[in-house]
Amino acid sequence: MHRYLALMNAPVAVPKPRKPDWIRVKAPTSEGYHATRRLMRDLNLATVCEEAACPNIGECWTKKHATVMILGDTCTRACAFCNVKTGMPRAVDPLEPEHVATAAAELGLEHIVVTSVDRDDLPDGGASQFVKVIQALRRRTPSTTIEILTPDFRNKSEAAVEAIVEAGPDVYNHNLETVPRLYPTIRPGARYYASLRLLESVKRKAPHIFTKSGVMVGLGEQRLEVHQVMDDMRSAGVDFLTMGQYLQPTPRHAKVEEFVTPQAFDAYGAIARAKGFLLVAASPLTRSSYHAGDDFRKMQEARAAQLKREGPNAAA
Ligand code: SF4
Repeated sequence: MHRYLALMNAPVAVPKPRKPDWIRVKAPTSEGYHATRRLMRDLNLATVCEEAACPNIGECWTKKHATVMILGDTCTRACAFCNVKTGMPRAVDPLEPEHVATAAAELGLEHIVVTSVDRDDLPDGGASQFVKVIQALRRRTPSTTIEILTPDFRNKSEAAVEAIVEAGPDVYNHNLETVPRLYPTIRPGARYYASLRLLESVKRKAPHIFTKSGVMVGLGEQRLEVHQVMDDMRSAGVDFLTMGQYLQPTPRHAKVEEFVTPQAFDAYGAIARAKGFLLVAASPLTRSSYHAGDDFRKMQEARAAQLKREGPNAAA
């Protein structure tokens, strides 16, 4: 073949898009990081920090803030953005609730975030394990405030929400993750309006529980679509919005369409605050559980100020 044609036909190496400076983080090395890691291994606990390859792990674990992932480390869904292993999960570990409580006690946590994989194989979607974890934490570390980040409990959400709300977490988080148009490719096993209804149902059943939800940007969403998601969350009574940059965990996952600039995050944050969220965290490295303890206290202060301003009938 002519050399020119050979060159034309050669596979073109597509350079991996370089992460902008505002995304780069230091590799975790601190003693606090290693101590948190050892404790999680000793207690046989999975964390979303590791499984989702979170970029904040060095910072969070140095401060002994880890987000525990219950119901095992294997998910029954296969979302295009998520690094958690997919497959047939193992049986639920009956010791897990006590192990989570031990981790909270040993780390001296004032606030804990507990999340899980999706367990579509279980008759209650795993709701009863959330309840047991909340009960174990209340027994062992009564002053620790509890934030749960649950799946959508597909087709079982009414009973699941009922049971979990009854157990009384301080914050109920469920992420919408992206705009409805991208659900078929990014979150194919989920339904946008089912997730929204779950959030609405938590607020209706227990208005005193703070509700929280998050979206990732950089997946190809349009600005006005994100604004619409904010409006939808507000109509479901969501108190706290988190927004962060999507990062592609491996080449098999959905690719990053855009690195959203810190200035664009500030603009999203300003719009969200104007829409009436009690609290908004919007920055490239924001994740659902990033600075969750500090943000919980900010939410309490914001609600107290709102009640003072508007009286006990202030809208959620
Ligand atoms: S932001 Fe959340 S998931 Fe990431 S390391 Fe911190 S606690 Fe873990």
